[in-house]
Amino acid sequence: MLGLNNRAFMDEENARKVFATFNQVYRTAQAAKALDWELIRKDGTRCVMETSVSLMRDDRGTPIGFRGISRDVTQQKHLQQQLFQAQKMESIGRMTGGIAHDFNNMLTPILGYAELLMHHLPSDDPRRANMENIIHSAERSRDLVRQLLAFSRQQTLEMKPLDLNSSITSFEKILRRTLHENVAIRTTLAPGLGTILADVGQIEQILMNLSVNAQDAMPMGGILFIETSQVHLDEAYAAMHKGSMTGDYVLLTVSDTGTGMDQDVLDHLFEPFFTTKAPGKGTGLGLSTVYGIVKQHGGYIMAYSEPAKGTTFRIYFPLSGAPSDKAASRLEQPHGIGGCETVLVIEDEELVRELVTGILKDSGYTVLEARDGKTAHDLARTFSGQIHLVISDMILPDATGTDLFEQLGAVRSGMKVLYMSGYTPDVISHVGQLGPEAHFIQKPFTLHEFSHKVRTVLDG
Ligand code: ADP
Ligand code: MG
Repeated sequence: MLGLNNRAFMDEENARKVFATFNQVYRTAQAAKALDWELIRKDGTRCVMETSVSLMRDDRGTPIGFRGISRDVTQQKHLQQQLFQAQKMESIGRMTGGIAHDFNNMLTPILGYAELLMHHLPSDDPRRANMENIIHSAERSRDLVRQLLAFSRQQTLEMKPLDLNSSITSFEKILRRTLHENVAIRTTLAPGLGTILADVGQIEQILMNLSVNAQDAMPMGGILFIETSQVHLDEAYAAMHKGSMTGDYVLLTVSDTGTGMDQDVLDHLFEPFFTTKAPGKGTGLGLSTVYGIVKQHGGYIMAYSEPAKGTTFRIYFPLSGAPSDKAASRLEQPHGIGGCETVLVIEDEELVRELVTGILKDSGYTVLEARDGKTAHDLARTFSGQIHLVISDMILPDATGTDLFEQLGAVRSGMKVLYMSGYTPDVISHVGQLGPEAHFIQKPFTLHEFSHKVRTVLDG
């Protein structure tokens, strides 16, 4: 630095800050302990310095200079920033999760009973229009709540070994139909990609949300790139990226040639309800949903962007390597909706139980009801006919759904199972990930979703 004008290594704002501090040290003779400022390196990159300064005097007490120590704390600041970001996301997640969970439980009977009422109204009844409005609003509320649950990682996932490439290939057709013509889609899929453990519907959700954002960022058109590859994250990478761990990952990269973002937007990118779009245009829930899904899959998401330079999202999923099912898609054709089998319904919440048994009886099924594990046991032992299907809540007063079904299997064989969830954050952590054999339906559900699911499980 000798002989250099200080402006060669600091910008105006930092120069002002540093001189103000030196000035104060000179005037008060009090040492400054930890001044943070940004230094511009020879190559133009910046680093954060932490500097302490004190005043030097000669024998007669006259100030003759400054003495100090500067440390490069760039990496420390970087990690601090990441930690702060992670804590912020944690607490927003806890809050939204709490609200969404309670709301969800209230929506189940609202939606369910409205649909049941509708079912019983004659087709020319003038009250049908009102009922339709109720159902429509309840469905929209449910969709909103689902996005919040996704962000707070409280969705129950159906994890299966998945070939990301084939999910992308089959979803590309839907993307092509959804996006404007002036957005070109280019996919580059690494051959021989290992599998990941994932919920295919959620992966499609990620692709959809990122693609729609990319389109919004390219109002005059552009290119959407979707790429896959397999990568190894080493210790150096993990050290620089808080929360990441070394290991093998499947990397999904989604980038666009759009407007890009500045640092202010990047800082808030994944927060729910953060949007830069006009009211009615954006909800600010797209990326928070993506964030939650990625975290719940044990992965990481990174965004890189500069104004006018486009945007790149990188998502790392832990490599599973298990052989994948045949390209599964949630878009499979639904089956017929009624049946005459016998179904055992286990649900402690009365409103939900009555709703579910009501739907099933209306659809022709024989229904047995239990409000807890003990009653279910008694029924399984004493009922004389065959029981084809067990529909159980995940959390019962005296058991978890999965444990209970295992016990029932000891009493009677040949039963299939469908779980419903009234997920709470702490329980979900150990019952949230069902085995590959399990079927699951998320509350609240519509009459049709429920009937279809029941049929699908019985026919599967
Ligand atoms: P919304 O799209 O409803 O605004 P999102 O959570 O999907 O909510 O995105 C939040 C914000 O992040 C957007 O409003 C936009 O400012 C910014 N953003 C997201 N994706 C991109 C992108 N590909 N290019 C530029 N900006 C983006
Ligand atoms: Mg969006």
